[in-house]
Order: sequence, then structure tokens, then C-alpha cells
Amino acid sequence: MKITILSNENKILKFIVEGINESLMNSLRRTSMVGVPTMAIEDVEFTKNSSALYDEIIALRLGLIPLTTDLKSYNLRSECKCGGKGCALCQVKFKLSAKGPKVVYSGDMKSSDPKVKPVYDNIPIVKLLEGQELKFNAIAILGFGREHTKWSTGLMTYKYFPKVISGKKDLKEPKDVKEIAAYLDKVRELEHKEEIKTEPVEDKFVVEFESWGQLDHKTILLRAVSELSKRLKAFDKALK
Ligand SMILES: [Zn+2]
Repeated sequence: MKITILSNENKILKFIVEGINESLMNSLRRTSMVGVPTMAIEDVEFTKNSSALYDEIIALRLGLIPLTTDLKSYNLRSECKCGGKGCALCQVKFKLSAKGPKVVYSGDMKSSDPKVKPVYDNIPIVKLLEGQELKFNAIAILGFGREHTKWSTGLMTYKYFPKVISGKKDLKEPKDVKEIAAYLDKVRELEHKEEIKTEPVEDKFVVEFESWGQLDHKTILLRAVSELSKRLKAFDKALK
């Protein structure tokens, strides 16, 4: 298998994978997106909310704020030594206290662990008018995107690498990494104009992975691979 990184900008990683079939590529895609744990707010206790939004709506919005995730320091609640009761090894506390008039942003929340905080400080939570108040304590835990999308790591898509089979002969195959992105754009454009015909290269994929920012791409991909092999081992064991 060969991996070629094309670019890594604005949390979007573009790369090419060769020597892999589609089922494996799709397993890797799904596991990367929803099978790698990230931190998200799960429980919220409101001590004051006189804003225009119901508690439930604010709690939902809080859950969707991506939080920087430290996989080495935290356990899944279900696998923690505390037996799921909640402790410093499986949860992070957030609190917020705000008075209107103001817009309450993700960055206004105070975290009990500086390593776990909103990826973006400027996500609006609610607008408070004069005299309105919002106070809550919240708990973030690790979870999987397959349980709730708030824990998903990002969005990964792939396409087959195109092989030009007829049409323009002057379209040169890319020689180095820098030329590949421009080549793919050109091929797409010419194909759209029906000036060329392509067929997919069966074992070569162009992958785009946009992360929501909780973890870096490499951590997500490595963890996805180990989650996949853990499952295959369990399958193997069950067969014996
Ligand atoms: Zn615990």
C-alpha cells in the first residue's frame, strides 16, 4: 500500500491511497469518521436560564461544539475504573455564567482541563438580552460518532483515481505530487466537457478528509486502523 499526501490545509487533508480495494477503503472511511472516540458535552445542569432558548435546545447546541480531545488521558466512561459513575479519568467539567446583554460564545465556557476546550471560541450559543442570564455546569465525555454524530471526527470522502482512456493525447500524467491536484482538476474539467473519457483505477483512491478539529488527521487514521484490527481479531477469535 502506498499513501501520498497531496495537501493539508484548513483542517482538510487530501491524499492518494494505492494498493487497497474499495471495501477496505470504505471500512477505513467509516471507522475514521464514526469509530474513533472524541470528546463532546453529554450532561448539562442548568442553574439559571432566562434566555429565549429552552434548556434542551442549548444542551443540544453545546453537544455539537467540537472539543479538543486528549485520547491518552481519558477513558471511555463505559471502560473506566469508576464503573461509569464519572471521575477525573473519564470526564471534563465545563461551566459558564453569563449576563445579558451579550452573545454567549463557546469560548465563554471554562474547562476543568486546559487541554480539552472548544476547537473554535467563536461559536454562538445564545443571545442574551438585557436582564437575561445563563448559568450551567456541563460534563464532556468520550464517545463514538456511531452513537451520536456530535462525537464524529469529521467527513471523509473518496473517489477512484481516473485513468484517461480516450480523447486528448496532450494531457500529461503527473510526475510529482505538486502536479497531481492540478492534473485531477484538468481531467474532471475535460471529462465534464466530454473531451475525454476515463475509467477508474480499481485500487487507487483520491481521499479528502475534513476533520472537525478535535483530533489531528494522523491520530484519527492511526486509531481507525487499530480499531479495525481490534474488530478483526475479535472476529478471528470468535471463529476459533
Ligand atoms: Zn471514570
